[in-house]
Amino acid sequence: MFLLDNYQKILREIGQVRLVAVSKTKPISDLQEAYEAGVRDFGENKVQEMCEKKPHLPQDIRWHLIGHLQTNKVKYIAPFVHLIHSVDSLKLLQEINKQAQKHNRIINCLLQIHIAQEETKFGLSYEEAENILQSSVLQELKNICIKGLMGMATFTDQTEQIRQEFRGLAEFFKHCQTKYSSFNTDFQELSMGMSGDYPIAIAEGSTMIRVGSALFGEREYPTRV
Ligand SMILES: *Cc1c(COP(=O)(O)O)cnc(C)c1O
Repeated sequence: MFLLDNYQKILREIGQVRLVAVSKTKPISDLQEAYEAGVRDFGENKVQEMCEKKPHLPQDIRWHLIGHLQTNKVKYIAPFVHLIHSVDSLKLLQEINKQAQKHNRIINCLLQIHIAQEETKFGLSYEEAENILQSSVLQELKNICIKGLMGMATFTDQTEQIRQEFRGLAEFFKHCQTKYSSFNTDFQELSMGMSGDYPIAIAEGSTMIRVGSALFGEREYPTRV
């Protein structure tokens, strides 16, 4: 089920900010409905699920990988992925570069920064991100482009805490914009904000939000036995 009214409401609220419709766990029919309503940017958190859905849907969809990416799976998405939001190591960037080269592409990436208090969320510290950006290895990667940063705030109803986490990330983003400009870095996108917190993220400078449940309804996860 695609919630058309919510989609239209969100579009009115966000202005120039880009919307990635997070379709993980949802059937192809839901994505088709969203496509017909005008959605072209879809976010999936698993490589396998993205690769299974892609052939059943129109070619002009821009596929965003938003979940943790293992190096051995990069090859499956390298031919087509539009933006990888979840880069969390130099090793992963090297593998993306290698696979992108095979397809004669430049793959756009975001560095995922750990801004939440939960232990479970993936991502780099600000210091680790700077280490990557200053590394000489990065200078050799001609088939990737670091387009910006991604972060997920703590899952909490403490809006002040969420605001502070987004604010910190936005400050670091501005710092990167002024400090790092190279042939393969181009800090334009700040991917922050989900169904529960996108208005705060936008107020703090987000350029791209990743919204799932507000567009497709709550997800049901298969129960593990
Ligand atoms: C699932 C997910 C989202 C969307 O979450 P909702 O709360 O359903 O909007 C956004 N970003 C990432 C990285 C996700 O895994």
